[in-house]
Amino acid sequence: MSTPTFFDDVNRMFERAAAHTTHPRGLLDQIKICNGLYQLEFPLKRDDGSIQVIRAWRAQHSHHKLPVKGGIRYAPTVSGDEVMALSALMTYKCAIVNVPFGGAKGGVQIDRRQYSEAEIERITRRLTYELTRKNFLGPGTDVPAPDYGTGAREMAWILDTYRTFSNDPLDALACVTGKPLGQGGIRGRTEATGRGVYFGVREACSVKEDMQALGLTTGLEGKTFVVQGLGNVGYHAARFMEEAGAVLVGVAEIEGAIHNPNGLDLATVRRHRQETGSILDLPGATNLPSSAAALELPCDILIPAALEGQITADNAPRIQARIIAEAANGPVTADADAILNERGILIIPDIFLNAGGVTVSYFEWLRNLSHVRFGRLSKRFEQSSNVRLLRAVEQLTGRHFPDGVVEDVAHGADEEDLVNSGLEETMIGAYQEVREIKARRGVDLRVAGFINAIDKVALAYLELGIFP
Ligand code: NAD
Repeated sequence: MSTPTFFDDVNRMFERAAAHTTHPRGLLDQIKICNGLYQLEFPLKRDDGSIQVIRAWRAQHSHHKLPVKGGIRYAPTVSGDEVMALSALMTYKCAIVNVPFGGAKGGVQIDRRQYSEAEIERITRRLTYELTRKNFLGPGTDVPAPDYGTGAREMAWILDTYRTFSNDPLDALACVTGKPLGQGGIRGRTEATGRGVYFGVREACSVKEDMQALGLTTGLEGKTFVVQGLGNVGYHAARFMEEAGAVLVGVAEIEGAIHNPNGLDLATVRRHRQETGSILDLPGATNLPSSAAALELPCDILIPAALEGQITADNAPRIQARIIAEAANGPVTADADAILNERGILIIPDIFLNAGGVTVSYFEWLRNLSHVRFGRLSKRFEQSSNVRLLRAVEQLTGRHFPDGVVEDVAHGADEEDLVNSGLEETMIGAYQEVREIKARRGVDLRVAGFINAIDKVALAYLELGIFP
């Protein structure tokens, strides 16, 4: 039997949950399949004058809501199957956090380290042109965002190229999210996925009976954790975990892994990597024999934040963490998932846990369409109302607040405050909803997340009258 692909794995997880629903088979099939996959090839003129063919994909998994939404990744492992799997996860993720988008995902099959900045720019602009021509890009159709190997700079190139071809100058800004601030980006987007991971883990660790079942105390303070992948998601997740008092004991990167049971300082690890090009040989830490060995370190929480398929049937029996927090998409295969559940390890699934990115992307899209920064109209008004209220309290009580308190408390919410608070509310609300399904149906969190998503997408289809 051939090894299941990533999309097979996602669909196996889907079917586990579908068995707990009463939706007709045809409707379940419609929710599960990928609505469209566009494979494209285009030439890149390399800096040395040679021509290379670049292969890319964009998958639009579900059109039950528009636009569809999902990142674009640059990685040598990208394939049609991979983007279909990732686009499906996007559909379920958006449904779980009540973001009104269908799922999509794109990828370019390159190892970006092999290309100059100018070449990456040419690839990105040509990709944008091709997607625009095929109607696979636009504020109301398909809105990409950063993913593995891409960031704000690529998003700015996408915007700039799209704007050149678009007949829709007013809303063009909303054709892509994760942009730089000066190009219509939103404060808090860069760290949003990592921050969302932190909110999700914190919420899971706050439930006493769940922690007791794992032999853990509640709260993050003092809990040990290991992170795989110190990129956008992994770094920020680790930073917020560390700030909340959790102790980083292991880090894996592409070049290897390091360990210190007494704790590693994240800023020091990062600086060391920037200076030496590697996390290895950090004073006070031990190098592990391989990067993957970090996944098997003793710790309370393991945060895979690199790529899919990292925890498989092979290494799942050796995982020592009590909680696996899926910051990456698909880090645990379906076979490994069964083994880990059997072993009583709590998996906080990707379809919930890394939804912070798309949540804040939604806020960015709304901001772009409304052409106004969140808080711009209300911040000053809120602040003066709060000051008036506090002064009234002083008058009534005849007592005065200490110096600085009024200014502190009266502070009106600016864009970043609103984004972070909207993200926190979303992650807490979604976790409680999924956990409630888990408790009611007696299933694990992943199955509960899928049930939640399937029910919501099914409802949208039924409301559309597609399946009377
Ligand atoms: P990134 O490119 O910023 O970082 C990924 C990091 O992982 C890099 O530092 C890379 O060197 C490292 N890495 C790669 N292979 C590794 C390996 N085998 N072992 C250890 N480290 C390895 O990417 P990112 O945006 O942080 O995305 C990471 C994961 O999170 C992906 O699965 C992505 O789909 C998912 N995700 C990202 C976002 C987002 O907003 N960026 C949102 C949701 C989900």
